[in-house]
Amino acid sequence: MSSRKDVDCCGGGHSAPALQLEDAVQRILAEVRPVSGTQVLPVRSALGRVLAADVVSPVNVPSHTNSAMDGYAMNSADLVNDGETCLDMIGVAAAGQPFVGEVQQGQCVRIMTGASVPAGADTVVMQEQVTRDGDRVTFAGRQKAGQHVRQAGEDIAAGDVALHAGTHLMPAEIGMLASLGTGEVRVYRRPRVVFFSTGDELRSVGEPLGDGQIYDSNRYTIHGMLSRLGCEAIDMGVVRDEYEAVEEAFATAARGADAIVTSGGVSVGDADYVTRALEAAGTVGFWRVAMKPGRPLAFGRVGEALFFGLPGNPTSVMATFYQIVQPALKALAGRSDVSPPLTVTAETTTALRTKPGRREFQRGVLSRADDGRLLVTGLGHQGSGILSSMSTANCFIVLPEDGGAVSEGDLVAVQPFAAFV
Ligand code: AMP
Ligand code: MG
Repeated sequence: MSSRKDVDCCGGGHSAPALQLEDAVQRILAEVRPVSGTQVLPVRSALGRVLAADVVSPVNVPSHTNSAMDGYAMNSADLVNDGETCLDMIGVAAAGQPFVGEVQQGQCVRIMTGASVPAGADTVVMQEQVTRDGDRVTFAGRQKAGQHVRQAGEDIAAGDVALHAGTHLMPAEIGMLASLGTGEVRVYRRPRVVFFSTGDELRSVGEPLGDGQIYDSNRYTIHGMLSRLGCEAIDMGVVRDEYEAVEEAFATAARGADAIVTSGGVSVGDADYVTRALEAAGTVGFWRVAMKPGRPLAFGRVGEALFFGLPGNPTSVMATFYQIVQPALKALAGRSDVSPPLTVTAETTTALRTKPGRREFQRGVLSRADDGRLLVTGLGHQGSGILSSMSTANCFIVLPEDGGAVSEGDLVAVQPFAAFV
């Protein structure tokens, strides 16, 4: 971002037309580069982290051609198509205990799952399909050459990129790394995200509430969302609605932060002093994003840090964080999977009301009917200040900008909360 003007001409200002959500996300992503620092971690400690370099496999996975079943290893040339195949069992191959020797014509080897397929064999017949009489093994003709055999390197070949830089390391990837014999991996350092709330009415947990005061919940939801994303979350508390206080908070926050997330103070009523403070501290635009809850949003940079000024209403904070901030923080963390959250289609059990102009993220409860249909129940008309609706809900019902009534039984788009982290 080169200048304040650049930011403003991209849809800023309270009078500018509202930005579509996708446009806002794309503009933000265009500004984000992964954090520069990396570190090497033991593979288990890398859970939840992001690979900073491709991992090239030093080995074949599986390392040897092996059986996918308990059964008998034999050569497909011995298969009798329209009748019974009869073979002599000459030995046993167990996992970790290969059969030493070669399977000749008319022979087979008893083989366990995971055991090396012996030389001379290329096919495994399941034990359930076999009749045994001493060392004589007989089975019927419906077998296919090569069946139930896992080829060496069929999962990952030596020299292949097993995992690409930008991969978010989840349990499957940690297991994959172990399957390569990899004990350590290079990952990006965790993004450092400083957050604070603005508002004279806010008190922190542990303080008594005076007249007209409320407890600051946004710092708790934001801390939770940042932590689940794997960020280092640094709490700067509550900042008063005063120009100097906000300016100072920005200067402090920008020191060493990769991103700053604030809540409150970006709506028309109190935006001015925040605007001025932000202009002094960095390059920030005020955007109206066409989403509900959560229209006003500030985005820009303070020093080197990305800046996200979220609205104050508790559900707006969560909705804008998940839809807008989360993709940006994933990209900042070095992740390549920043695509929009999983959306499924469900049948609404309630009529839903929307107004045209903004994409609405209503809170809903997703469930499955006895016959397998996905159902979603709206939680009724809930103000953006009601955080309990986010707790009761397990999904957003996403209603398009064109508005209009949704009737009971209509299909609607749903984003399960599980898709967010
Ligand atoms: P604002 O965006 O600052 O105008 O705030 C909008 C509404 O959200 C007001 O009702 C505030 O009291 C409320 N609010 C702002 N910040 C917080 C917070 N940190 N925790 C809970 N509610 C808040
Ligand atoms: Mg406020």
